[in-house]
Amino acid sequence: MSKKEFKAESKRLLEMMINSIYSQKEVFLRELLSNSSDAIDKIYYKALTDDSLHFNKESYYIKVTPDKTNRTLTITDTGIGMTQEELESSLGTIARSGSLAFKNENETKDGHTIIGQFGVGFYAAFMVADVVTVISKALGSDKAYKWESTGADGYTIEPCEKETVGTQIILKIKENTEDETYDEYLEEYRLKEIIKKYSDFIRYPIKMDITEKRPKEGSDNELEDYTEEQVINSMIPIWKKNRNELTSEDYEQFYSEKRYGFDKPLTHLHINVDGTIRYNAILFIPENSPFDYYSKEFEKGLELYSNGVLIMNKCADLLPDYFSFVKGMVDSEDLSLNISREILQQDRQLQLIAKNIGKKIKK
Ligand code: ADP
Repeated sequence: MSKKEFKAESKRLLEMMINSIYSQKEVFLRELLSNSSDAIDKIYYKALTDDSLHFNKESYYIKVTPDKTNRTLTITDTGIGMTQEELESSLGTIARSGSLAFKNENETKDGHTIIGQFGVGFYAAFMVADVVTVISKALGSDKAYKWESTGADGYTIEPCEKETVGTQIILKIKENTEDETYDEYLEEYRLKEIIKKYSDFIRYPIKMDITEKRPKEGSDNELEDYTEEQVINSMIPIWKKNRNELTSEDYEQFYSEKRYGFDKPLTHLHINVDGTIRYNAILFIPENSPFDYYSKEFEKGLELYSNGVLIMNKCADLLPDYFSFVKGMVDSEDLSLNISREILQQDRQLQLIAKNIGKKIKK
């Protein structure tokens, strides 16, 4: 009897994956930004054991650049980059995660948690792009390579020029169709919104050139456009900060920034648990009940983050019905996510967190 390997129709597999893993197209940006953050974290970890490397946090960033004229969206990072072999293995093999391999080979426990694990997130780019081009130069290499693909038809790799170490991902954004618009992924305000929603607490600055209006010099009523590079994400999650350094105003600001309500919270609860279960949470008792509280539309739930990346807007399992008015968020490193990172597997960890939270609110 001979043992055979399963074959996979990779073209079909990729198509199925691109079109059925994610419920919302906008998460492609979350996936690419998480990859960039992982790539910078990898330099951070390398620097811990390699004396020739210095990790100067200020030199690392991610930049998002839309270009309406050419219909491209470019994501540039100053991370570890990929060699020719890595482009081939990581981006040419579905479900191969270079980040998971990195975690297994390196000691990566000290709060800089690498996000990637499934080896599929990158392909989310094809939900919004016809062509994806990756230009990368790996740390320690003097050559750069360009990987390019239109999705199902495979990919090409060739040498190219790139001065600095890191990766640039260029998405050729799809044309609008009758039932789907893609133009929004070239709009500054929309990209800002998506970055704030999912990637606000990525540890490295996510920059964008933002064009705004200001009064024109020497004129009373004329306005002029000016462009300025801005950091879009807040970077440090308030729930990881020391409670003693935070004021009630800081919590109130968080409450209104996160749009938990238009009122002011009556009180807040900042929880850091680091035992058999590990999580951080900030919970609020609102002053007013939500406007739709007594309607069918009302949904209870807390925001759920995994390593600072938003997973779920309203996780209902975290709150018992009698505390459905409570607002806030929970962040945990230990959740078992499914591959879309949008929903959880039946998770014991989550049940334990929910029980623990219930007790704390009661108290
Ligand atoms: P995951 O992030 O879950 O590992 P992806 O499909 O998003 O899966 O990415 C596959 C692999 O490609 C990553 O594990 C990483 O090794 C590599 N990779 C992707 N994006 C980048 C990047 N911006 N810089 C360096 N390596 C990257």
